[in-house]
Amino acid sequence: MSIPEVHLDTLAVHGGRDPEDDGGLAPSIRPATTFLRGEDGDYPGGHQYSRSSNETRARLESALAALEGGGEAVTFASGMAAASAVFMQLAPGDHAVVSADVYHGVIHFVKQWIVPRGVDVSFCETSDPDALADAIRGNTRLIWFESPSNPEMKITAFAAVAELARARGIVTVCDSTLASPVLQRPLEHGIDAVMHSSTKYLGGHSDMLGGVLVTRNAELARRLRAWQAESGAVPSAFDCWLLLRSLPTLPLRVTRQSASALHIAQWLSEQNGIERVLYPGLASHPGHAVAREQMRAFGGVLSVCVDGSERKARAFASATTLFAQATSLGGVESLIEHRASVEGDNRRSPGNLLRLSVGLEHPDDLLRDLAQALERVRDVN
Ligand code: PLP
Repeated sequence: MSIPEVHLDTLAVHGGRDPEDDGGLAPSIRPATTFLRGEDGDYPGGHQYSRSSNETRARLESALAALEGGGEAVTFASGMAAASAVFMQLAPGDHAVVSADVYHGVIHFVKQWIVPRGVDVSFCETSDPDALADAIRGNTRLIWFESPSNPEMKITAFAAVAELARARGIVTVCDSTLASPVLQRPLEHGIDAVMHSSTKYLGGHSDMLGGVLVTRNAELARRLRAWQAESGAVPSAFDCWLLLRSLPTLPLRVTRQSASALHIAQWLSEQNGIERVLYPGLASHPGHAVAREQMRAFGGVLSVCVDGSERKARAFASATTLFAQATSLGGVESLIEHRASVEGDNRRSPGNLLRLSVGLEHPDDLLRDLAQALERVRDVN
């Protein structure tokens, strides 16, 4: 269905639907793995075998590309499958710059599988354009960054990355998972590709795994499309359908989660018992000015450093009742997580840091929950 120029909210509702197709207002699901040839040997439905393409995935991909403002979307079975598809494009002798504060799974993947292939990788503070410029070498082929980053919530300026990379022909990829296309659209600022763990806000209900890359770079799209089919880490038709079902509420969910997170961040930053709050929506955050320029709101994730020991931080997380103690983010339910203990070998978060993913509960109830938890651990050392 061709959709006229509309707001993102409208696009989110109509992007993955085509009632003219089979009359159903909601998208149908097509679980077939293989498709019939016509008499001439061609595939009249346009699909041959589901690992290469299928209708439900194609529908999802066109909806996701539209949300990011154009280009081609290539979906994967998880966010890590999408990330690895990018890093696997690098050849021995190439160099990549990666934000120091990216998702710890990406750091682990790069160290474990990419560096041993003869690819040089520099972990760098991409929120500092001078540090980024210094990290670039003659053989740099990729800049991979996450903004907002996680868990430190650092902000990298899209325009600065694009300007440094463009002249040198370096491919730039932004992991935009924490923002979703509702809050920022990096392609519009000259970034080559956007990546999401769609397990998070895009899915939004903590019930499916997925990943996506969206790019306007035709050559990159061609390679990623080939990698998708040949590596085989593709999402199931059911997961594609679940994601299609989630997209219409994405703008509402993210807008509400961002508003609640800002409210909670402001409140927490005034509490005794909290050493600091990391949230780009706070004027005190070093990335606040850049975030205001390139984001529509500041997202539903924040980190807090409890005033005290790791033991106290963990006791605080355990004392909450509405915030579930679990990893991940972007779902309808609020989560709280002691980050250092899930980072494993790449542990870099301070022991007193907790990451909060704010859900769709009423913000007053969430504040009350945090207040009672703070009170309960007041005397913990
Ligand atoms: N990027 C970010 C920012 C994440 O938070 C995660 C997962 O937590 C990933 C990538 C990896 O995504 P997935 O768990 O869907 O493989």
